[in-house]
Amino acid sequence: MKKSIVAGNWKMYLTSSADASILTTTLRNNLSKITADVIIAPPAIWLSEVASILGKNGKVKVAAQNMFYEAEGAYTGEISPLMVKEMAEYIIIGHSERREFFGENNMDVNEKVIAALKAGLTPIICVGEKKKSVNAAQPIKELKEALMHIPKKRFKDVVVAYEPVWAIGTGESADPIYATKVITQLRQYASMETPILYGGSVNAQSVKGFAERPEIDGVLVGGASVKAKEFVKICQIWDEMKSLI
Ligand code: PEP
Repeated sequence: MKKSIVAGNWKMYLTSSADASILTTTLRNNLSKITADVIIAPPAIWLSEVASILGKNGKVKVAAQNMFYEAEGAYTGEISPLMVKEMAEYIIIGHSERREFFGENNMDVNEKVIAALKAGLTPIICVGEKKKSVNAAQPIKELKEALMHIPKKRFKDVVVAYEPVWAIGTGESADPIYATKVITQLRQYASMETPILYGGSVNAQSVKGFAERPEIDGVLVGGASVKAKEFVKICQIWDEMKSLI
């Protein structure tokens, strides 16, 4: 069965390790009964602490927000897939903020996806168009290039996050019907088993509309994921709605 996923990308919102520990502990204590897979992505510097609070067999899993594709070497400031693998099961790759502020292109994303799979990590590949349009050409191109050289039988081992850039951090989430149309097109370039998530201004109000769509397998939440109560609510609403479908 395809996974149902609620993932939280903390970005660089929290700035103290004490706050990160409190948030992690609160999520661990309140999400143990959630059916969906819950993933949180703290900044790299807190991966170890967050992983140790959550425990190896806990409900909430860990993702890193970024990594380099080389396994080791003289790459100042970078972290390797092998380092991430010690702390996390998932890795966010190709987030629009990496593309915009750090110049990541589709080739970098592809190298990272290959490196992640090789290291035994599950990549969460982010794709999305910059401007509002009903044309899925840009996310499709990003996905096709992210999956280059990867055998089709491995497509089930990746997660795709459709994140229209215009919806990220703007408070304006995409219309769930519109998101479904794009996700249905993306699915043709992934596999039936690839979980495809929606991301972009998801909160406790908007999540319902995405959970109602059987084609959408989960959500990637940014800003609302560092608000403990709201993220718990998003997970609960997601679970409730999915149990009705
Ligand atoms: C994200 O960063 O992946 C994201 C979806 O952010 P937000 O929920 O804040 O729009």
